[in-house]
Amino acid sequence: MLVLKKNQSHPHFFNQLSCGLDIISLAGEWLTAAANTNMFTYEIAPVFILMENVVLEKMRSMIGWKTGDSILAPGGSISNLYAFLAARHHKFPQYKEKGLSSIPGHLVMFTSDQCHYSVKSCASVCGLGTDYCICVPSDERGRMIPAELERLVKYHKDRGNVPFFVNATSGTTVLGAFDPLEDIADICQKYDMWMHVDAAWGGGLLFSKKYRHPRLTGVERADSVTWNPHKLMGTLLQCSTVHFKYEGILLNCNAMSAEYLFMTDKIYDPKYDTGDKVIQCGRHNDIFKLWLQWRGKGTSGFERHMDRLMELAEYQVRRIKEQPDKFHLILEPEMVNVSFWYLPKQLRGVPHDAHKEIKLGKVCAKLKGKMMQSGTLMVGYQPDDRRPNFFRSIISSAAVTEKDVDFMLAEMDRLGQDIIVD
Ligand SMILES: *Cc1c(COP(=O)(O)O)cnc(C)c1O
Repeated sequence: MLVLKKNQSHPHFFNQLSCGLDIISLAGEWLTAAANTNMFTYEIAPVFILMENVVLEKMRSMIGWKTGDSILAPGGSISNLYAFLAARHHKFPQYKEKGLSSIPGHLVMFTSDQCHYSVKSCASVCGLGTDYCICVPSDERGRMIPAELERLVKYHKDRGNVPFFVNATSGTTVLGAFDPLEDIADICQKYDMWMHVDAAWGGGLLFSKKYRHPRLTGVERADSVTWNPHKLMGTLLQCSTVHFKYEGILLNCNAMSAEYLFMTDKIYDPKYDTGDKVIQCGRHNDIFKLWLQWRGKGTSGFERHMDRLMELAEYQVRRIKEQPDKFHLILEPEMVNVSFWYLPKQLRGVPHDAHKEIKLGKVCAKLKGKMMQSGTLMVGYQPDDRRPNFFRSIISSAAVTEKDVDFMLAEMDRLGQDIIVD
């Protein structure tokens, strides 16, 4: 029991963005291991390279682009790095040969204070320094404030720096918030900056006619988009994609043209040798399990899956609101991230203020400890800039039903009602 329910595939595991176990994707992963091939050239992985082309083209069309470029990368963090590299190359093509000193002024990038930490790491890895990754304030629901973005861009321009890259997040890691893409696109256009959308988490909602808008409205105006099938779509780890509006940009930016691997006189079009598009050499085959899963579910199956996850989160919100003595909903979620506090008997009927929030924060660590010891449930907690610890549950497993949501809340109450905090 203890081991099983702490496993991410159990329906009582609400702890991480990647939950569940898709059986068809698992079959794909097994075959992938048996084939054990490398994705750098067409000659050794012809069918898998074609699968990449077909699937990535389909994903780009769902973003809203007719052409473009894409690659599967080892995770969303590295996907964001690829977007950064392409943006810098697009604006300063001389960088590749001449290096940082060929860029006039200090590059500055912008992202909301709710973004994934991998965005900031681009600034450190690529020589800007994290001081030049500017955190734009977000509103009370965790969405970037466009007026603040414009103010900060102007501030840096006035000081002779070079604002060039904005990261908008579609589905933030903690609150599941969606930055306003249309407003951000307007600002990027006005100041000639690259717009990247980190939809590692929220990208799956592109399948859903019901939930795509307004959350991802304007995504087609981005220059690049990160989208992790291993999150909301339930593809087995690891499966992460990054997409660009511009055909050939990855090769232009990253190619080193190693003569022993990427000969240009092969009998096929060398564009199928994808290995030179990346800063890696070999690449793992992450496509087959996604291709197979997509064949199994169909596009409409993925859409139903997304709608179902969102409906379950809405159900959870309803159930939380029906029990105001035991649960306190922190905000109306935009995604399957539900943020709330649990109230043990000690804190029921006490007026809600900052003092009480500190106590509710202390309840989180104690209750999580009880979950782990009993082995019956996993729900994550964390603090943020605005508040002490709070619970954030995630519904992203196809195995979860309304019964499991009811179990989550009932079990938290069973384990937590007698908790005392000072
Ligand atoms: C999970 C996540 C990432 C990082 O993805 P990895 O595959 O874990 O590297 C980046 N951005 C957002 C918004 C995420 O939720």
